[in-house]
Amino acid sequence: MRTIDLGESGLRVTELGCGGIPIMRVSLEEAKVIFRRCFELGIRFFDTAHVYNDSEEKLGAALEPFRDQVVIATKVWAKEAQAAEKELAMSFNRLKTERIDLIQCHNVSNQEDLDRVLSPGGAYEILAKAKAEGRVRAIGFSSHNPDIAIKAISTAKFTTLQFPFNFIESDPQEKVFPAARERGMGLIAMKPLGGGLLERADLCFRFLQQYQDVVPIPGIQSIEEIQEIVGYYKRRRPLSQDDREEMQRIRKELGGRFCHRCEYCMPCEQGVQIPRVLLIKSQVRRFSPKQLIVIAKEAVSSVEQCVECGECVERCPYALPVPDMLKENVEIFRKFLTEHDLQA
Ligand code: SF4
Ligand code: SF4
Repeated sequence: MRTIDLGESGLRVTELGCGGIPIMRVSLEEAKVIFRRCFELGIRFFDTAHVYNDSEEKLGAALEPFRDQVVIATKVWAKEAQAAEKELAMSFNRLKTERIDLIQCHNVSNQEDLDRVLSPGGAYEILAKAKAEGRVRAIGFSSHNPDIAIKAISTAKFTTLQFPFNFIESDPQEKVFPAARERGMGLIAMKPLGGGLLERADLCFRFLQQYQDVVPIPGIQSIEEIQEIVGYYKRRRPLSQDDREEMQRIRKELGGRFCHRCEYCMPCEQGVQIPRVLLIKSQVRRFSPKQLIVIAKEAVSSVEQCVECGECVERCPYALPVPDMLKENVEIFRKFLTEHDLQA
């Protein structure tokens, strides 16, 4: 596995990382086996977040014996300093470490959140203090919104960017990634498999391998998954004409109903939590039924307020049929729970 500089962040990482969302579905013992297999396969970059339930604890326990050989990234969800300080303290404990390599402001996707993070008394102050004390090596952010990402990049406060990037969500290569590169930022691709919706992993990674400074972090929940993905790096080959045609076919098939979680449709005057509901289709592949109830119940209830005014459709840059997709995702949520004999 090649290693690369994560921009000018000072971090050196493997060209493939490991994401920590789906590990929430397995036991601690299984998680240890999976993360250690990732390590044996050569992966040295692991990403998690405060809000991924017990993901930090599992990662911390699994990687404790190899702590000095891996780069660990996590995220604070809180946008205010006091709450961010508490989250950060918990992350150090859960990860069993005295130094976090990369701390990221999690999901800075609207102007209000960007302002809150960077204002006096915002989360950034705490992260900068931790960096000055040597407890954190680099500060980055994650986002789903290109305009907000470009604004955050322009502040020059962050040294890494984590953004969705896959062959359906390829827009970042146009403006967001060039802007980040200009600042020397490291690039991390979240959702390399479209949040679980893209089934042709071979195509996904062949597409991503074209961008040698972008590090994908697929979420892993089994040894078989990571072995398969690492295989695409061992037996690397460029995209063929057939691959390109197949990617185009999949783009056409899924693109018209693929939510990019960019939040341009928000706010809905009726209080419908649109992006959170439209995520459910991929979340059923990554969360357990009980976790999904906690995460999505409130958003699902908010759909009852939809009056089908169509304003979100007008605001969506991809012209997605949002009201239909809301109903479809609510149906998927209910069916998933019924299959597991649960009710929200
Ligand atoms: S519905 Fe459209 S605007 Fe709203 S988050 Fe999804 S892609 Fe973005
Ligand atoms: S169609 Fe429904 S979800 Fe969309 S803006 Fe109108 S009320 Fe909100």
